[in-house]
Amino acid sequence: SLHLNKVGKRFGTATALDDVTLSVEPGTFLVMLGPSGSGKTTLLRGLAGIERFDTGAVRFGSTVIDDGRTHVPTERRGLAMVFQDYALWPHLTVRQNVAYALKRHHLDRHEAARRVLDTLDRVGISAKADAYPQELSGGQQQRVALARAIVGSPALLLFDEPLSNLDADLREHLRVEIATITRESGATAVYITHDQAEAFALADVVGVLRDGRLEQLGAPESIYTRPATPFVARFTGLAG
Ligand code: ATP
Repeated sequence: SLHLNKVGKRFGTATALDDVTLSVEPGTFLVMLGPSGSGKTTLLRGLAGIERFDTGAVRFGSTVIDDGRTHVPTERRGLAMVFQDYALWPHLTVRQNVAYALKRHHLDRHEAARRVLDTLDRVGISAKADAYPQELSGGQQQRVALARAIVGSPALLLFDEPLSNLDADLREHLRVEIATITRESGATAVYITHDQAEAFALADVVGVLRDGRLEQLGAPESIYTRPATPFVARFTGLAG
C-alpha cells in the first residue's frame, strides 16, 4: 500500500504541494487529476525519488521511502516509470531497450530473453522486436515504454501523462491496454493527467489536485456523484 502523510514541496515562494495525505491499497490504480500547475508532476517526481519532498512522509508497504530522515534512492524503490516522451534509447532496438531494464535483476541470458519476448507479446509489439525506436509510431513507442516498465515486475508503476502526445483514437485504445496490463501485473499505479475522461476511465481511485492541495480522493463514481467542492464539480465537467 502507498501512504502519503502531509507531503509538501515548495519552490521559492511557490507551493507546489501542500499537506497532501492519502492512502491506497496495494494494486490500486490511482489517477491524480488536476489542471496545469496543480502539482501533479511534483508529486510524481517525489514518488519516483527524482526530487525530495520538503515535508511529510511517504511509505510504500512497510518501508518509509521519504521522510525527514530517510530518502531511498530511485533505483531501490522497486518502481518503474512511463514518460510522456517515451524516453527510449535511440541507439538500442526494441528488444534491447526492454532488456536494459532487466539488467539489475541478474537473470541468466535465456531467462532474460524469454521475459523480454513475453512482455513484448503482452503489449502487442513483439513483431517490432528488432526495430529501432525512430522506426516506430508514437503509439508503438509508448507500448515499448510500457513493456520496459513492466518487464521487471515493479511493485509501483508511475505514469507521467503517457498518452498526451498521441491522437484521440489511439489514446482511447491504449488507455484500455494500460489499465488491463497494469492490473494484470498487480502493481500499484500512480498516473497523472489533466484529462478528466482519461482519469475516470482508468482509475480505481481518483485524487483531484488544485494548487498543490488534494481537493478530493475517491472512486470515480463517488467523485462523479458527490464532488466535494465547487472546483471538483467544475473541473470534472459536472457543474452546469
Ligand atoms: P503541468 O501539467 O503543467 O506539468 P503540474 O500539475 O504537473 O502542471 P507541477 O509541475 O507539479 O504541476 O507544478 C506545481 C507548481 O510548482 C507550479 O506552480 C509550478 O510553477 C511550480 N514548480 C514546479 N517545478 C518547479 C521548479 N523546478 N521551479 C520552480 N517552480 C516549480
